[in-house]
Amino acid sequence: MAKFDYDLFVIGAGSGGVRAARVSASFGAKVAIAEEFRVGGTCVIRGCVPKKLLVYGAHFAEDLEDAKRFGWDVGTPKFNWLTLRDNVLADVDRLNTAYTDTLESHGVEILHERAVLTGPNEVKLASGKTVTAKTILVATGAWPVMPDFPGSEYGISSNEVFHLDALPKRVVIAGAGYIANEFAGIFNALGSRVTIVNRSDKILRGYDETLRDRLLQISMTKGIDFRLNCPFEKIVKHKDGSFGVKLAEHDSFDVDLVLFAIGRRPHTEGLGLDAAGVELADNGAIKVDEYSQSNIKSIYAVGDVTDRVQLTPVAIREGQAFAETVFNNNPSTVDYDCIPSAVFSHPPLAGVGLTEGEARNTLGAIKVFSSDFRPMKNVLAGRNERSLYKMIVDASNDKVVGLHMIGPDAPEILQAAAVAVKAGLTKADFDNTVALHPSMSEELVLLR
Ligand code: NDP
Repeated sequence: MAKFDYDLFVIGAGSGGVRAARVSASFGAKVAIAEEFRVGGTCVIRGCVPKKLLVYGAHFAEDLEDAKRFGWDVGTPKFNWLTLRDNVLADVDRLNTAYTDTLESHGVEILHERAVLTGPNEVKLASGKTVTAKTILVATGAWPVMPDFPGSEYGISSNEVFHLDALPKRVVIAGAGYIANEFAGIFNALGSRVTIVNRSDKILRGYDETLRDRLLQISMTKGIDFRLNCPFEKIVKHKDGSFGVKLAEHDSFDVDLVLFAIGRRPHTEGLGLDAAGVELADNGAIKVDEYSQSNIKSIYAVGDVTDRVQLTPVAIREGQAFAETVFNNNPSTVDYDCIPSAVFSHPPLAGVGLTEGEARNTLGAIKVFSSDFRPMKNVLAGRNERSLYKMIVDASNDKVVGLHMIGPDAPEILQAAAVAVKAGLTKADFDNTVALHPSMSEELVLLR
């Protein structure tokens, strides 16, 4: 008889957990996966995927406006939030089914319930059953941080925002990171009055400063109100269901929705990690080595719960490397260098490699090339919105060490250009490539 019920027990069926479970099973492991919400995790169910679909939906507002300049008579466009919401949620259902099917077709047993650790090789399910596994993988992701001040309980997080029954007329968003800027763009384009409130004067900390400034300027021109360096004092609920927001040392204003987007914390509370002796960092993240192994040899962790890089493709790579290492006798690590990322704001921005500030601090002598231009589509549309591309080059060897872009389709363009940056190509290599004309991306090989 086998010593354990399973070779691998995965807690959390998000991007990292699903990849690890599926690939481990394909290597012959007997695998079970427990999920207390829905198979697919944050990215698929209440994150990247439905968000991107809302971004597409919202962008039609500008496209329909611009269409007139291109000869189209589109009448007076009308928007129906429930149609967009329900179509997006139906697509989430489709993906949820696809992820479930993939796991099942690989022989992974899915347990639709919460699991907590009770020891290095044992978990207890919500149903009361205890199961054992030779290896346990924790892939429970991260959870929105919610603030605590008078009335903060009236706010929602990005978990709930996809299910609103009506488009709010006035929205206040706390935070100025990824989620805040993405939803500010969505709601503003759909016609809501949006106010972003942040504790510091920085938006999108970590991105190149010139691009952040450009997004701030364009967002303000589009009508988004920024209250920076502004802590909340309190929120009160009015009889009509709206909310009064009071910021410290500021007047009150009324809104219909309060959205908190002030970061996400590793989802480890109540998981029994202490019972199993697993070491956590101060912010609750599971401490792991380069093979995603915790201090307890039988327990591994991948994805946001380890707080390495909070991005889906990184969690997927960590899940794959885990499966290769543990079940395919092929020790594998993840290369965290030069990870491209994007913010799906209106317009989107994207970056890879070092920002100008980081390059100056780490390399010393650098060269900065940029192109600040108005895309031809914007010119004809009469839209006075400029794109900005910026390349950071190591002056000692001409290597491109950073590329940053804001403008239409920036994430689509940057993904391809990131291959060149990751490969260590030089500015001369970019210059030697003939421009593809007319395109926005040709600016990348014409930078001066
Ligand atoms: P971010 O970490 O991007 O931004 C957090 C924001 O909240 C910052 O503006 C920060 O202010 C502020 N903040 C942090 N802590 C507090 C606090 N205690 N009180 C008040 N304000 C606070 O978080 P998000 O919630 O927007 O996103 C979470 C994560 O989800 C991101 O880190 C990202 O990894 C992932 N994500 C990725 C997306 C993508 O790839 N396109 C899209 C959406 C999410 P300040 O910086 O001024 O200190």
